[in-house]
Amino acid sequence: MTALLEVEDLRVAYGKIEAVKGISFSVEAGQVVTLIGTNGAGKTTTLRTLSGLLKPSGGKIHFDGQVLNGTPAHKIVALGMAHSPEGRHIFPRLTIAENLQLGAFLRNDKAGIEKDIQRAYDLFPILGERRKQAAGTLSGGEQQMLAMGRALMSQPKLLMLDEPSMGLSPIMMQKIMATISELKAQGTTILLVEQNAQAALSLADHAYVMETGTIKLSGTGQDLLHDESVRKTYLGED
Ligand code: ATP
Repeated sequence: MTALLEVEDLRVAYGKIEAVKGISFSVEAGQVVTLIGTNGAGKTTTLRTLSGLLKPSGGKIHFDGQVLNGTPAHKIVALGMAHSPEGRHIFPRLTIAENLQLGAFLRNDKAGIEKDIQRAYDLFPILGERRKQAAGTLSGGEQQMLAMGRALMSQPKLLMLDEPSMGLSPIMMQKIMATISELKAQGTTILLVEQNAQAALSLADHAYVMETGTIKLSGTGQDLLHDESVRKTYLGED
């Protein structure tokens, strides 16, 4: 089976500084794959490049049978990749319902859009309760839910989540991770970037450890959860 996403020797530079130095990884349909690693490892840069927000300086990205070669971001959304960015970037003055509708900007099937908004409310009931409120009034965790709900509105084949647990309380973090498991159970393919290695490895089918722009280690989530070097470096064990 060919993978839904296949990244080959990807390189990305900011001016002369290479932030991603030739990484290769793949995501099969139906899998949750995680990229973990410390600050500055190049995880966000990788996701932004896959989304078409940054241009690679080398390598290849194959997605759903196509090669993405300078493909603009909106076309990549149309091909089926959605990105819930680090820091969420919701529209604070718009209502929750309006934020969700924006996630469907490429669609014109009104009934289908309504159905998917309802699905977001089923997944995150708090969003349904507050649908008419300005999104800026939501807590950080609720804004994270909205960012995920909005990304799902494009009916993606691949959902990319950048640090969904960042800045959240432990309880809210558990809720977000439980939702990722639920999405997985529903068949959603997910590429998850996380600094919370324990949570990410626990639910990932496959995981890659990034360090200073390279992939240092890869394996199943369970393998890496039990790997001694990962435990020392990323899970805070002596
Ligand atoms: P974080 O969790 O902090 O976002 P990360 O693994 O996602 O970490 P990136 O944000 O991808 O890492 O950053 C990778 C490297 O690229 C870092 O050294 C960072 O300082 C650098 N970098 C990121 N954005 C820019 C930019 N706009 N201009 C120049 N350098 C940048």
